[in-house]
Amino acid sequence: MRRWLLDILVCPIDKSDLQLRVFVECDDEITEGVLICSACKRLYPIIKGIPVLLPDELRDKSVEQEFFKRWKDRLVL
Ligand SMILES: [Zn+2]
Repeated sequence: MRRWLLDILVCPIDKSDLQLRVFVECDDEITEGVLICSACKRLYPIIKGIPVLLPDELRDKSVEQEFFKRWKDRLVL
């Protein structure tokens, strides 16, 4: 995803602003990172450039577990 997208993305639960934490950036494209809700503190992964902003019931736990395991050292808040 591109950084400007941050201006229009909001938390799907409470519509609050998101903070971006970049793990991998390549040619202005953020390919791996997380979006952190400023209100509920939920973490939304950016996987292969796609921000996964889904409500809890639609989130793919197995994909996210693998992602968060890979980046756990970078996720200390
Ligand atoms: Zn939220």
